[in-house]
Amino acid sequence: MPDDVFGTPKPHPERPNRKRQLTDQDQRSIAERVRDCLDYPLLYEMAELLPPPNVVGCPREYPGIVYLIMAALTPVTKSKRSTTGLLASPQDWRSVRASIRRHLGRRAAAALPLTAPSRGQYQDALNNLLVPAADALEEAFRRYAAQQALSQGLFPSDTPKVWSRPERRQLLVGDATVPKAPSKARAVEIADEDTGLIRNHRVDPAARIYYENGEKEKRRVRGTKWFFASGRDTGYWTRVILSFAHVAGGEYEDEAAIAVRQFRVLKDALPHCMGVVYDGAFRGVHRDALARAGLLAINKQHGSVAPVFYERISPCRSGHELWCDQGRIAESIRIDDGTRILEPLPITKLEHRAGAAKSRWYHVLKIPCRHGDHDYRVPVGITTTPADRTLRCVDTGKRIKSDSERGFHRAEYLQQIPEASLTHQLLYPYRADSESVHSQFDQSLWNRRMIAYGVDRQKIFVLGFALSQNATSHQIHLQARINAQQVLRIA
Ligand SMILES: [Zn+2]
Ligand SMILES: [Zn+2]
Repeated sequence: MPDDVFGTPKPHPERPNRKRQLTDQDQRSIAERVRDCLDYPLLYEMAELLPPPNVVGCPREYPGIVYLIMAALTPVTKSKRSTTGLLASPQDWRSVRASIRRHLGRRAAAALPLTAPSRGQYQDALNNLLVPAADALEEAFRRYAAQQALSQGLFPSDTPKVWSRPERRQLLVGDATVPKAPSKARAVEIADEDTGLIRNHRVDPAARIYYENGEKEKRRVRGTKWFFASGRDTGYWTRVILSFAHVAGGEYEDEAAIAVRQFRVLKDALPHCMGVVYDGAFRGVHRDALARAGLLAINKQHGSVAPVFYERISPCRSGHELWCDQGRIAESIRIDDGTRILEPLPITKLEHRAGAAKSRWYHVLKIPCRHGDHDYRVPVGITTTPADRTLRCVDTGKRIKSDSERGFHRAEYLQQIPEASLTHQLLYPYRADSESVHSQFDQSLWNRRMIAYGVDRQKIFVLGFALSQNATSHQIHLQARINAQQVLRIA
């Protein structure tokens, strides 16, 4: 298809392979990542959201910043135990005090005890200080993460938006993951098989059974499910985690509904974001919601969507029979042996019309014809309902029924960026970055099992994980900028 704006899809072997291993220069040692956290300005901003020592609950010797630092270091060292172990070394505690002096001033640093908190003290602070402030901390995280993304050149305002070829840094990716529950036990009391004695097990009350990855077959996992959204440019550590959320429901739609909600909130914070790359959990109804919000929804159609008849148009004497096939309009053409085939029609333009309340999307088709080609505009991506602005027939003036009244799920059948196109082949692999986030998350867990019991405490761990990841992204960005300035100075 020479005229097609999305390009002809490549057969399997030629496809560009975007997956790659972490290169050596992307590896970051634990010591470096600890430093990244200590130098992350957001931690010090968040500390202001916490009550000062000695005003709530049992008296604390340490200001909130110390516990925030510990929350961010826990995923780096993989456990609370190793974090307290790390800070117990006089040298590391000195560098914590030095960082607090740099960011909060001499007086804050001078007020710090000479040794770091114990694990018990951190556990207390987790329950009585951090967990109660979780919502405020999360809110601050989101706000800061969006600003960080913008300042690192993601979702830029001054870059043209080519809807048929968005850049990686103009797109959000997201997915949910289920880290294993802290213990395998599901019952609180279990009879020891040898002795018959009843033993008590700690059970994570938040854990449940999820069925993962329904694209091919379902995998049963027990744990808690967490959604992450992020954005990035070409370098691995340019990634900024932008939001996270607990997925309480076990159904596939529960994840998708939470993801849609998160992406719509992110679109408000990042108005120049162009779209979302997601896995098969998104169905037509989710793509519809994102398209209305002015976002491209780049994912794969669910299973095998059989072609459906769209309409017959007669701009000329021969007329054209249009079908939906592989996410786009195809023409039914009679071939020599009398049978019919579906021939995809070239799309010359993907049009985005942003309205005050919602967006509309169109494919401008070029229908080849011996009477002269026809240009034809077809709405895509959104299944209209009677609540949408009603259209009237140009000839008769009669009201045209909405998609839902006609039983046509347009968002399911007509994709903004059709699956069978080169653009889709290039963009969809960006989704793999959400797997990198999940693998980083897995690696931050001791024994690859979730660390804390209950959603509330797990949320603080997840926040700490997101903070530590973004702290490194921030440092790497700063370093790259300093290096670029040095190169300029030499030149
Ligand atoms: Zn998923
Ligand atoms: Zn014609």
